[in-house]
Amino acid sequence: MSSLVPIAYLASAVLFIVGLKMLSSAKTAARGNALAASGMAVAIVTTLLRQGIMSWELVLAGVVLGSAIGAFAALRVQMTSMPEMVALLNGSGGVASALVAGAELLGYADRAQEPTGVVSTAIVLSTLIGGITLTGSLIAFLKLSERMPGQPITYPGQQVVNALIGIGVLVLCFLVATAPLELGPFWILVGVALLLGVLLVIPIGGADMPVVISLLNSYSGLAACATGFVLNNVGLVISGSLVGASGIILTKIMCDAMNRSLMNVLFGAFGAVQEGGGAGAGGEQGTVRGYTADDAAVIFSNARSCIIVPGYGMAVAQAQHAVRELADLLEQKGITTRFAIHPVAGRMPGHMNVLLAEADVPYEKLVEMDHINSEFPETDVALVLGANDVVNPSARSDKGSPIYGMPILDVDRAQHVFVVKRSMNPGFAGVQNPLFFNENTMMIFGDAKGTVLALVDAVREY
Ligand code: NDP
Repeated sequence: MSSLVPIAYLASAVLFIVGLKMLSSAKTAARGNALAASGMAVAIVTTLLRQGIMSWELVLAGVVLGSAIGAFAALRVQMTSMPEMVALLNGSGGVASALVAGAELLGYADRAQEPTGVVSTAIVLSTLIGGITLTGSLIAFLKLSERMPGQPITYPGQQVVNALIGIGVLVLCFLVATAPLELGPFWILVGVALLLGVLLVIPIGGADMPVVISLLNSYSGLAACATGFVLNNVGLVISGSLVGASGIILTKIMCDAMNRSLMNVLFGAFGAVQEGGGAGAGGEQGTVRGYTADDAAVIFSNARSCIIVPGYGMAVAQAQHAVRELADLLEQKGITTRFAIHPVAGRMPGHMNVLLAEADVPYEKLVEMDHINSEFPETDVALVLGANDVVNPSARSDKGSPIYGMPILDVDRAQHVFVVKRSMNPGFAGVQNPLFFNENTMMIFGDAKGTVLALVDAVREY
């Protein structure tokens, strides 16, 4: 039996890797997901069949309780609250790894048996990373759910305090790794790791939360990987490293999409909103033109091409099915219609893709920012649907704006721009958008779903 264990773990690793690869294309993603899930099933069964795990009753109780909580949370959560849920799941992953590593250490202490250097180092890493992941994720959850202000929380000498804590952590890690059976430094390390998670995330502003979430996701994988070394469990080492690596790749993609450097993220020194921003920071910027769905139908009647730019407001309004109806109608009227997808539109990576897929919008209609931006100048109508920051031209031109340098969808370069939103309120980054005041912009104020349905009626009748 024991010789089959590594083979089974290898099989599950292959399933994970092939599954992950398939996730990179929307067409193969569902099958990839199923493949990776079956890899996880193989890994779980293999682990349970290994001897000396623990009592079956406890395993079963854990499975039942965990599944019940997971199912309850997943059924209750709104699509718009998914990022908060992901934050909590990352935190749970981190704390689970740290708890297992800590329990192992206490077991060694009970038996007065010194763990090997590899195991004690892995215990240190799992405790540290898992602790940071737990409290960092909780702060991210509180910020995303607006139970805590989204603004960066800063104080004088913050970097120095963080650096001193960092040095203290290194000393503690050394003490625990070299004398693991002395439990005093271990408990201090637990406390400091939890504190560090809070301190690293509070200075980060709401607009940078997507990067934090994917970074914490990566941390939770690294903590699991370290725990894999503690337990000498190859399956956990492999799955933890895959989560760690894919999380860091996603972090890099998010950083690029928000014009942040990965080094800034890793050292927690980003996200501070710059004071005294230029025009992009807020305030009135000219005249806003309010139009109706009927006015828009007139413009559509002469159009040949349309790019729909969905954003967070489409998710709030659950307008994806209405949008699909509109896109189909426009196509029937001979207007080439596609969707422009910004990497951080909405509140989580892939948010728009998920919603549009739910409404059965064909994948080939979804075009990534880098591919579609050059096409806006030749496009008759850009329809911005509940998007704001991701189409804010001050990111290109206003050095004082907090979002300066963030790549955006160049909707302002289209012939006509319709912006559907409920008011002049700013988006997630809290800055005003000069797009709304442009000559070629027509604001259609209202809820995204209601407005799109009105557009469907108006375009159909015209
Ligand atoms: P924004 O948050 O910039 O803007 C959304 C707009 O939608 C608002 O201006 C709001 O205006 C409008 N809106 C809200 N509800 C409705 C509704 N029912 N009907 C019509 N409009 C509505 O969204 P974007 O998608 O443009 O940008 C995403 C922002 O979120 C970026 O700053 C990004 O960094 C950040 N972010 C992204 C994450 C990700 O992973 N994708 C995660 C966390 C943050 P009004 O109130 O006037 O209707």
